[in-house]
Amino acid sequence: MKLKLNRDAATAIRRGHPWVYRNGVQGTAPVGQVVDLGEAWGLFDEGPIAIRVLGRGPPEHLPDVIKRRIGRADHIRWRCISSTCTCWRVVNGAGDGLPGIVIDRYGEVAVLRLYSKAWEPHLDVLVSTIASLPWVSTVFRRYGVKRVDGREGGETLLGTAPPEVMVVQEHGIKLLVRVHDGQKTGLFLDQRENRRRIGELSAGRRVLNLFGYNGGFSIYAAMGGAARVLTVDLSAPALEDARELFRMNGVPLKAHAFEVADVFHWEPPDRFDLVICDPPSLARGKRSHQAAGRSYGQLAARVAPAVSNKGLLATASCTARLTRAEWEAAVSEGLSREGQWAWLEHAAAPLDHPVAAGHPEGNYLKFALLTRL
Ligand code: SAH
Repeated sequence: MKLKLNRDAATAIRRGHPWVYRNGVQGTAPVGQVVDLGEAWGLFDEGPIAIRVLGRGPPEHLPDVIKRRIGRADHIRWRCISSTCTCWRVVNGAGDGLPGIVIDRYGEVAVLRLYSKAWEPHLDVLVSTIASLPWVSTVFRRYGVKRVDGREGGETLLGTAPPEVMVVQEHGIKLLVRVHDGQKTGLFLDQRENRRRIGELSAGRRVLNLFGYNGGFSIYAAMGGAARVLTVDLSAPALEDARELFRMNGVPLKAHAFEVADVFHWEPPDRFDLVICDPPSLARGKRSHQAAGRSYGQLAARVAPAVSNKGLLATASCTARLTRAEWEAAVSEGLSREGQWAWLEHAAAPLDHPVAAGHPEGNYLKFALLTRL
């Protein structure tokens, strides 16, 4: 089916953007249908994004494209990821030429998560392609994107059902994963190299991990030689997993504590030499960029007093709504209310999370290290 793009949409696609918004195209098609846009082609979708662009030129045979791109993505990972990891992102949406698709690896389990309904009619090809990868024994589909799945939990599409809790290795450290009901597909794989950096910086330091989830940053800190680690999260079950993580990795709990609390209404008991602050998206539902930015500024101001003199603050944002410059400006503004600070390092997601050139929204993860002067 042929559809016509308007000028702006055509320009964005020429620059490499993988989406066409609803008002960028004339005409309509069934969801998941291959559409020919003249100079490009893609899948028709519902929702604000009308088309997921799959390539330039005339449409190609979709099953071949799926097989080629999943195979290529898997190959790149094998050549790049350390042999001490058993979990990583295999397909990162548009960054791997498959906008709307995420495939994560946890040992022999491949977890597929769809962020676009357009892939639904092509599920069989996706599953058989994933199943053909040499490391895969189970293909599990994780639900939870309301508009796409309309339901929670997940479903085993091939092989034996994964256990409720799995143990994987990341840089030689054991991590707990719940593919059925954990965040995202079970773990925040995008913070892997930032967790490692925290491990390197933790020796002898008192560490506070805010929004700690199941203890990823905390276990790296503890195993990196932190004097003590306090992990804070709203979710009691997540902190139970964090505790279990310490046990599994053979770290005595003596010096380490876990506290169920709302960070926005919590007073730190002490000052810490390294504070990690990795909140959920604070931009959700905010109408303007300014309002979204302000939330990050307010949080930075709240957290600042917990950082000791000459201490470190590692902070992150997972929202695509703010650019790095906007986020950093907001954090700087918040911190300026208390003391003097300097930026030390800036990081993003690691190399198993490629971002398509021309798709700035794909570059959502910001991580930075600051110091109180
Ligand atoms: N840093 C984690 C990921 C954080 S995800 C990691 O790398 O694994 C966000 C976490 O913040 C979730 O675990 C959620 O339970 C928690 N959370 C959300 N709102 C919170 C609040 N107001 N106070 C404390 N924790 C909160």
